[in-house]
Amino acid sequence: MSSIDLVILDCDGVLVDSERITTRLLAEVVTELGWPMTSDDATTRFKGRDLHEIQAEVETQIGRVLGDGFIPGYRERMAEVFVRDGVPPIEGADALLAWLESSDTKHAVASNAPHEKMKLTLGRTGGDDSDWYTRFEGRRFSAYDIQKWKPDPALFLHAAQIMGATPDSCIVVEDSRSGISAASAAGMRSIGFADLTPARELAGAGATHVVETIADVVKTLRAWMV
Ligand SMILES: [Mg+2]
Repeated sequence: MSSIDLVILDCDGVLVDSERITTRLLAEVVTELGWPMTSDDATTRFKGRDLHEIQAEVETQIGRVLGDGFIPGYRERMAEVFVRDGVPPIEGADALLAWLESSDTKHAVASNAPHEKMKLTLGRTGGDDSDWYTRFEGRRFSAYDIQKWKPDPALFLHAAQIMGATPDSCIVVEDSRSGISAASAAGMRSIGFADLTPARELAGAGATHVVETIADVVKTLRAWMV
């Protein structure tokens, strides 16, 4: 086993607890469009997937085309909810970041979401002087930068290349099947954080190791860092 040169963190569901908010909103939006759905349904079907794919699935289901306005319209509503209600950090994420810094472990964030969404979530976390968006300056990677979304491995490979790490020395921390699949396809080890997605599903997608808390992510990294 090689050393750890880079830890790549997913954003939504690993650093910030935004998935509960966005799946609820997505269920609302899709229901309005004529496909009745609960938050749980939306989590099962859509979590960790890219909105273009979701739009296509909704269009098939409701039998009509939603057009170019769907994604911007959804993002606008999402931004309103984030600003109105706030986005809490995932429990233990602050300690994970503190440990990565104190152990001098290079780390980055890689998300299927655009930078504007990371700014809305990470930027509102961690306090005014040290918000998490600023903290990841130069180490934030969005699938929109390269127009390829997880489960495609391109985003993780791109992040590794920019950060100067080889895939076999990268560890990905992910809470979604699509992210775990992307890590496997990139030839990277992964830690699956089983929160909204059950552990067996993350293991089934190829997670090297699955944990139930972010504190256990730190434990796993320590154990692998020998
Ligand atoms: Mg996620």
